[in-house]
Amino acid sequence: MEDDLTTENNSETEKKADGSAADSSAAEGDQKEHRERYCSLCHRPESVAGKLMEIPYLGRNMLICEDCMQKGLDTVRNTNISDILQNLGSTPGGFNLYGFTPVDFHGTQEQREDGKKKDKPEKKKLTLKDIPEPHIIKQKLDEYVIGQEHAKKVISVGVYNHYKRILAGPDQSDGVEIQKSNMLMIGPTGSGKSYLVQTLARLLDVPLAMTDATSLTEAGYIGDDIESVVSKLLAASDNDVARCETGIIFIDEIDKINKKKNTNQRDVSGEAVQQGLLKLLEGSRVEVPVGATSKNAMVPLQTVDTTNILFICAGAFPDLEDIIRERLSKTSSMGFQAQLKDEYKDDRNILQKVTNEDLREFGMIPEFLGRLPVVFALDALDEDMLVKILKEPKNAIIRQYQKLLAMDHVKLSFEDDALHAIAAKALKKDTGARALRAIIEDLMLDIMYETPKDPNITEVIITKDYVEHKGAPKIVFGGEELRLP
Ligand code: ADP
Repeated sequence: MEDDLTTENNSETEKKADGSAADSSAAEGDQKEHRERYCSLCHRPESVAGKLMEIPYLGRNMLICEDCMQKGLDTVRNTNISDILQNLGSTPGGFNLYGFTPVDFHGTQEQREDGKKKDKPEKKKLTLKDIPEPHIIKQKLDEYVIGQEHAKKVISVGVYNHYKRILAGPDQSDGVEIQKSNMLMIGPTGSGKSYLVQTLARLLDVPLAMTDATSLTEAGYIGDDIESVVSKLLAASDNDVARCETGIIFIDEIDKINKKKNTNQRDVSGEAVQQGLLKLLEGSRVEVPVGATSKNAMVPLQTVDTTNILFICAGAFPDLEDIIRERLSKTSSMGFQAQLKDEYKDDRNILQKVTNEDLREFGMIPEFLGRLPVVFALDALDEDMLVKILKEPKNAIIRQYQKLLAMDHVKLSFEDDALHAIAAKALKKDTGARALRAIIEDLMLDIMYETPKDPNITEVIITKDYVEHKGAPKIVFGGEELRLP
């Protein structure tokens, strides 16, 4: 780094101030004029990088090209400064906008790893007793997530095994190495994929980062670097590296990084992202930018080992159903094909029959699938499930509105057929349970606006007619006053 600092540059300026010195060494000056200057950060010559700026640094001048300067300023603008400042304790060299070198700024490899040995209170060592058994995890999930029995079972066992694997550690004295149980969840939009993982992380009290594969691109291209998924987990762990290393990373929309067919261009947001994710999924030590989505000279880095991070990928895989149907009809015996095709056409849960072969056909590369050994599908939600989602979970939507109205001393209830009418409406929107909230919000707006006006209102009953815009809700005046819980 020091070599890049232009000491000769200083002497050049001095010589310009002193005319006699310049005259006496004209030949030497000519030679210097032709000597190429380099950007101290990206090391590109001035002829390529454009005019270099001089920034005073430790009594000398440091040369920076316009691109690096702009990158630095962009990062500072987009970076949560508190993240950087928080990280400074673990990044010797500190943050100094006007006097830095990448090594000063990022610290050396050893220094970065020292970050983990911060004076944090020692956590109690994890034992098998601390990990809830699969049936306990599932029971807890049941309180929040409706249906999806198979998915809940698979995820409970997968998580249990994952933490057992962490307990077993790298000990392979008996020749048995437990493989990572990273998961791939397939399910239609709004079927509860993210909700399931969110609930799981809350129950286990582990940090969770939820990211979207669509924003990822190969390093160097516009978009987020692949390591940024780990940065998010580090942020969710309050920059506690040890906690981060046993957290969960949820990558949604994973189907969007399928290998693009018939393209001559480099697939920077598809296959290249799958390739880039391989080493993270498998487990490796990666340097991640702290508080930013891409690495550059101005962002502090932290080393994180992803060996014990559980990766759960999820996607709707829109055309996968056709691929599965095609395969199933191909494997069926000749002559019955037409009939079988029709049979599979009406199968709402055909995704349950997915195989690795189908996913490969969809555009996921075999190495990527190999690192996601636990594959399962979620059921498409039907009307009855949607009704249950409305009223049964601990924090069900209608319970939330009941609580809000109870604060105005008004009881809120829904007639059974009204709930079915809401579910039927949601089903038509084809966005799973997501549509429920929008419909209820719409129904409740007038009620939430009008009821606080009249203290005589004690109860509001939502009817099917009101849901279908054919009538008004039933309003009860007088009667017993509700008390706040
Ligand atoms: P996606 O499958 O697209 O990730 P989400 O998990 O974001 O869907 O679901 C959207 C919302 O729908 C969740 O926040 C949750 O409130 C509700 N929801 C979806 N599925 C279920 C379910 N099986 N049980 C309870 N609530 C659910």
